Amino acid sequence: MPSTAATSAREILTGLHSVMAKRTNAQAKLDKVVNLIGESMESEVCSIYLLREGCLELFATRGLKQEAVHVTRLALGEGLVGTIAKKIGVLNLAEAASHPDFAYKPETGEELFHSFAGVPIVRRERAIGVLCVQHADPRGYADIEIEALQTVAMVLAELLAGAKLVDAGKGLAAQRDPMPARLTGQKLVAGMARGVAVFHQPRVTIEHTVAEDTEAERARVYSAFRRMREGIDTMTRDAEFGTAGELGEVLATYKMFAYDEGWSRRINEAIDSGLTAEAAIERVQQRTRMRMREIDDPLLAERMHDLDDLANRLQRIVSGQVGTAAQGGLKRDSILIARNLGPAELLEYDRRRLKGVVLEEGSLTAHVIIVARAMGVPVLGRVKDVRVAIVEGDPLLLDVDEGVLFVRPAASVETAFDAKRQLGHKRRAALARMRDLPPVTTDGKRIAVMVNAGLRDDVEALNVTGADGIGLFRTEFQFLVSATLPRRESQQRLYKSVLDAAGDKPVIFRTVDIGGDKALPYLTGEIEEENPAMGWRALRLSLDRTALMKAQARALIEAAAGRTLQVMFPMVSEPWEFDEAKALFEAQHDWLRDRGHPLPKIIRYGAMLEVPALAETLDILLPNLDFLSIGTNDLTQFLFAADRAHPRLAERYDWLSPAILRFLARVVIACDAANVPVGVCGEMGGRPLEAMALIGLGIERLSITPASVAPLKAMIRSLDASAIRTEMTTLLVRPSSDMRATLQSWAEARHVALG
Ligand code: PEP
Ligand code: MG
Repeated sequence: MPSTAATSAREILTGLHSVMAKRTNAQAKLDKVVNLIGESMESEVCSIYLLREGCLELFATRGLKQEAVHVTRLALGEGLVGTIAKKIGVLNLAEAASHPDFAYKPETGEELFHSFAGVPIVRRERAIGVLCVQHADPRGYADIEIEALQTVAMVLAELLAGAKLVDAGKGLAAQRDPMPARLTGQKLVAGMARGVAVFHQPRVTIEHTVAEDTEAERARVYSAFRRMREGIDTMTRDAEFGTAGELGEVLATYKMFAYDEGWSRRINEAIDSGLTAEAAIERVQQRTRMRMREIDDPLLAERMHDLDDLANRLQRIVSGQVGTAAQGGLKRDSILIARNLGPAELLEYDRRRLKGVVLEEGSLTAHVIIVARAMGVPVLGRVKDVRVAIVEGDPLLLDVDEGVLFVRPAASVETAFDAKRQLGHKRRAALARMRDLPPVTTDGKRIAVMVNAGLRDDVEALNVTGADGIGLFRTEFQFLVSATLPRRESQQRLYKSVLDAAGDKPVIFRTVDIGGDKALPYLTGEIEEENPAMGWRALRLSLDRTALMKAQARALIEAAAGRTLQVMFPMVSEPWEFDEAKALFEAQHDWLRDRGHPLPKIIRYGAMLEVPALAETLDILLPNLDFLSIGTNDLTQFLFAADRAHPRLAERYDWLSPAILRFLARVVIACDAANVPVGVCGEMGGRPLEAMALIGLGIERLSITPASVAPLKAMIRSLDASAIRTEMTTLLVRPSSDMRATLQSWAEARHVALG
């Protein structure tokens, strides 16, 4: 046997290349391949098993009985060969028969051979076959021999796929794993979707595996390494401030790997064995993945993922295939798979074809999630092993409501999925009929049902749902989806187009709630915060960055020329903050007036009540206020001191708890006394039972996510407002131990439609 893996592999690769180039039939080629490998490795047996119809079939052998070819078949996981394919691992045994997984196949005559070394033939992270060698005498195989076998197997995988080696009809059916898979994750944006898997960063197609000029390949890898390192250095520099947390860690790891001598040396060695630059990177990457599968330590596995990511990046640079799937365009209904995404990256996709998103990372408050929610694209996050379990083009069913992703689903799963979706459609159709029905309670109280929005296209929700207007327009969305600060003109264009589209219906613009969890690198990058939700955000930031707020004020005032402008400020904590913000708007108004610009007919100023402290100073604030909007998302997190994005706390405190309801009741009483209209614009108002309780507290304006409008209208139209008011008054004095259960039975007894 040759002395190094490189020379051994190179000799075989050169031979392989010429065998594959010949115009012979598939079987003849495979027969030559096993002879070639056997000879070079001086092994008595060399066999190739390929996956066909879910089984590993002996396709070619040198040394075993020829009668066994296309006869011997092993299931995945059966025998040594099946185990190698199933685990995508290597077996190196001096005495094959004594291995617990050994399965004796008499037709092969393999009892004559003692030692066994087998490696999986892997393509796109799936085993499509097994390559093995056997010797008569019991001997262990040296690492370099295994290395050589793996290199050959890799080239074989590409050649098998590229040359369509297996005759049509008999097909290499199992280039893809036919087994269905079920992956679970965190529910980030609810909904159901069907589509084919599309990777945000598509896999590079390796055109050539065997090098014609090794030195030229080496030069290509060197230059790709240089470019990759430069790229990472720039990313690190750009993100120099505020790189704490996940991004900082990932960048640090990237940097460590990018400069890791061991990694570049291994790629170099793979090139020495005769591979092209792309194939060499892939070869080393396969080794990393194999280790990844064996690692139990989640932290180390995470680092391995980073290395895998970086190898993909290097591969893209070397091959020149650098675009994302968005650039290629989506051809069919698709579900996008990514480690993570930026909001702008998501917006690059064709919204008609993008049906869902699956992320390996992701969290509820990530910008991309806010945008996906606004786009109506369901998202499942923190899904492990996507790159192992899914290949490009796999059919997928995404059911975020259940937190699952079905990969290559069985027919029965598809049927159940369709039935569930159908039910959803039916319910939605029934609810669509609600569109033109006013939300009036059975005793004649008209409740205003408005929607929360943030992107221009959200305004269509007004038509679709028949809502009364936009009760919360989150202006920071435009900032979140932009790489740089949106110019005043583009802000103004957006606001005007929203007002135009809303027509007669009112729109309440909220000034930017940037900072904290909605950090913008170009604005808030310079500070690191321990408690970002309670940090320098929203109105606090706007009042410090007056240029930003002035620009927004001018954009809003000019956009609303000739109409009513309704504006509210987020996270007002003390009355003076509201006064200062209002004064800033008024100054802009006067400035424009003095220069003869057309102005709004009237400006109505509101505050959001999200910080509990503000409730203690309502007597000071209310006389200056045109309306108050309660943001229950932030309010509850501050009232309970429970991070609204913390998965462990999500279910811990109930919106129907006496603490929240009593708090809200006091606010409503204060507003009523001051004759200031008050509404709720947090997620709480979008749930029928919670909305019922809010109406019971005297709330008459709700601003909610568009999907909740119809169910809420149904609830309101079946509710007796005065009855729930009486009930709530009693319950607030003497709360039950389970307010939710009490209210639920109250509603059921009175046939209130809770959906
Ligand atoms: C809230 O906090 O309830 C709210 C409506 O604002 P946001 O969710 O944008 O913080
Ligand atoms: Mg808020």
